[in-house]
Amino acid sequence: MFPLFLDLRGRTVLVVGGGAVAARKVDVLLQAGADILVVSPALVPALAELAEAGRLRHVEGRFQSSHLDDAWLVVAATDDDAVNGEVASAAQARRVWANIVDDGKSSSVHMPARVQRGDLQVAISSGGAAPMLARHVREQLEASLDPSLAALTALLGEFRQQIRARYPRTAARRRFFDRVLPGEVPELLRAGQVERARTSFQAQLEAPLDPGAGSVALVGAGPGDPGLLTLRALRLLNAADVILHDALVSPEVLQLARRDAEFIDVGKRAGSGQTAQAHIHEALLAHARAGRRVVRLKGGDPFVFGRGGEELEFLAGHGIRIEVVPGITAALACAAYAGIPLTHRGVSRSLHLLTARDCEGEAELDWGALARGGQTLAVYMGVASLASFASRLLEHGMAPALPFALVENGSRPGQRVILGSLSNLAERAQAENVRSPALLILGDVAAFAASLHWFGAAPLGPPLPLRDAA
Ligand code: SAH
Repeated sequence: MFPLFLDLRGRTVLVVGGGAVAARKVDVLLQAGADILVVSPALVPALAELAEAGRLRHVEGRFQSSHLDDAWLVVAATDDDAVNGEVASAAQARRVWANIVDDGKSSSVHMPARVQRGDLQVAISSGGAAPMLARHVREQLEASLDPSLAALTALLGEFRQQIRARYPRTAARRRFFDRVLPGEVPELLRAGQVERARTSFQAQLEAPLDPGAGSVALVGAGPGDPGLLTLRALRLLNAADVILHDALVSPEVLQLARRDAEFIDVGKRAGSGQTAQAHIHEALLAHARAGRRVVRLKGGDPFVFGRGGEELEFLAGHGIRIEVVPGITAALACAAYAGIPLTHRGVSRSLHLLTARDCEGEAELDWGALARGGQTLAVYMGVASLASFASRLLEHGMAPALPFALVENGSRPGQRVILGSLSNLAERAQAENVRSPALLILGDVAAFAASLHWFGAAPLGPPLPLRDAA
């Protein structure tokens, strides 16, 4: 099959058949501006309406080869193989391209699976061998091609003459596009800032070809399962020059990044927090200033116990272009992958994200408020301080029988879920040798893991009955 794109505007396309399939074909052909002639004894309501509105011509009756007289293309969409066959051979005799629906062999034209972003189109064919595969590839492209490509295509179309005038030589033109396409113009369009994109494009067209300005995207990598990355994160990982990532970012996620990007592991060790952080700030700044597209990749969400705010403040203060892409934070992922609804009617009305420990040591928290019932606590970075955490809550009146779930390596291949109740939290964690990264979910909802878990190994611990809501 040889791909071509047809300009159907004002050209006659014959559609044989008046049913639902014909209606779908008519729909796309009308979008392409074709002048449509439908031959069929009857029409489904959608087609009848179009005929009444004068958007297509209808010839009532059976197909005759004279209907092909003005046609550039014919689509046979009847459910009668004999009629479809007649159309195919009449079209062949007259050298009119024919698409016979569901009959690749008799068709001289296949309609491809396609992905459209304005005037930008990708058409996919498997030559009739595997239409489902073509559809699958189309779905992948749908996911990876940003909708703003439509606006980008329009913008480049608008500047086409100017670009050719400024860079008449192909090599220079390519270098210009190498700079512009991964740069801020597509970013601005993605953010819906069409005017700023146009201004920026104009400026870049007039500027000498020097290295562009760098940027830093603060990107949430999610809890580990690469399927939980956002499409935006994936796109940025594929466009990055440099990726600075934490120890928490899973290898599976890193594998999805651009192969020739520079990977820098800036995983921090507890204790050296402050200096390590300053070092990361400086590294981000240096790479961005060198004109690179920097991705700062963080486990979970960058704004949940990720110090993302500090990094952004620093970069914004130095005038670096920034962007933030949220990620699935550990609380959401661990709950989902352990089968624990974080809120549940009649059981838990609120969710608190907290950390049992910060760099300075034990966190100062409002223990009285945390110890109240009817809520869910999602506790980050707590493994080392579980004993003191539990005893503070018990002191403040939290029920000793309150269920907990400790989720270790949530969403990852080795995920473990340990169940118990507040009174034996520290012992259970120790007995099962729980290691970082682990998240504590404390509240009546934790008991759901016993019955609703679905990912990885079954939960360890006694199946707890659901208690009445406090
Ligand atoms: N920004 C991250 C949190 C960083 S703090 C986020 O939004 O998820 C690090 C803590 O997050 C870990 O100590 C652990 O409590 C939790 N965590 C991160 N990934 C986890 C995972 N896959 N399973 C369990 N806990 C995880």
